Amino acid sequence: SLKVIMLHTALRAGFFLMNSTRQNIKTLIPDKLEERIVGMGLKKYRAAQVFEWIYGHHAASFDDMTNIANAERSLLAKRFYISALRVLRTEYSADGTRKFLFELEDRHTIESVLIPDENRSTLCISSQVGCAQACRFCLTGRGGFRRNLEAFEIADQVVAVGKVLAAEPEGTVAASGGESSRERFRHITNIVLMGMGEPLANLDNVLKALKIITADKGPGFSPRRVTLSTDGLVPEIEKLGRSGMKVNLAVSLNATTDEVRNRIMPVNKRYPIKELLAACRRFPLDDRRRITFEYVMLRDVNDSEADALRLAKLLRGIKCKVNLIPFNPFPGSEFKRPDDAMVQRFKKILAGHHYTALVRESRGGDISAACGQLRERLTADAASASDRLVP
Ligand code: SAH
Repeated sequence: SLKVIMLHTALRAGFFLMNSTRQNIKTLIPDKLEERIVGMGLKKYRAAQVFEWIYGHHAASFDDMTNIANAERSLLAKRFYISALRVLRTEYSADGTRKFLFELEDRHTIESVLIPDENRSTLCISSQVGCAQACRFCLTGRGGFRRNLEAFEIADQVVAVGKVLAAEPEGTVAASGGESSRERFRHITNIVLMGMGEPLANLDNVLKALKIITADKGPGFSPRRVTLSTDGLVPEIEKLGRSGMKVNLAVSLNATTDEVRNRIMPVNKRYPIKELLAACRRFPLDDRRRITFEYVMLRDVNDSEADALRLAKLLRGIKCKVNLIPFNPFPGSEFKRPDDAMVQRFKKILAGHHYTALVRESRGGDISAACGQLRERLTADAASASDRLVP
């Protein structure tokens, strides 16, 4: 009836006003919160408390912040809201891998993948909606670029999955021996920036997100447990090196000649192999660390014995290990994966030259959660959701 429609319209307008007058407090984290809090007449240390509530204790509302005075809580609630990623869908692979589809406030979607193992559980997170790098063997790259993720949207993938896992019965996934300082995140032991997007093309936000993820009063991950993977943006590799954020570096090399790499990874035309490896040689590593080189194996493209020998020669003198990733197909892909014998032979040649080479069988292929299979999805759910949820 008309009355119902009018009521509905009024409610919508109300929601809209609430959202338009309040600001998402997470957009101020990590580096602008203190200034704003002080500007509101609150004590500086309130910023650290708010941060700890949000990123250490999963607080969803200012009401939860019991060590902050009532009047101050309501002042905060008047100015701000606390956003949360919305889990649109969770898919389970037969091998235990789990893929989360998250909806952002502007309705774009991203995916994160949880890969449990016997004694660890790795969360693979996204840094962009889509990707502009256009690697030919990657489905995300085929779909084009939408936008960069904000720092909180990157960090919140860890928060959202941590929250889901904390609510599950013990033993669902392996928990860490306590290296991550926050009990609430013990079910995620490692984080890899290997989901959708090129993290170094969004470096400023990625660095802010890493600051959140590694904060003692937040999720508290040691940077040693975090790996950033790049397709080879040389100036940003240098910037990351200078940033002091001591996460592990993985480089998607994927070819041993510029001719082949140009063909499968457009970034190589800007930063050819020689320049890329020179940047890797300059990258500051401390004693224990090594660079990981990823190498997607494409049949008859980059999987020959000559390739293996060239790779051994190219990497000489770099403290590194090699992850061989047999190609994961997707509908319409032009490449094939080599057979196992070929992969083993490649690995053997590298081992013969004293490289640590691992064949990384991608997990979660049955739910399109494997390397190179993530993409933005417009689900019926997202398309029909008539109102943005007011947090
Ligand atoms: N943009 C970053 C982060 C993505 S990581 C990067 O390029 O490193 C994704 C990893 O999966 C990369 O090493 C990439 O080379 C690999 N990959 C992409 N598509 C793949 C596919 N179809 N099969 C196997 N590995 C793939």
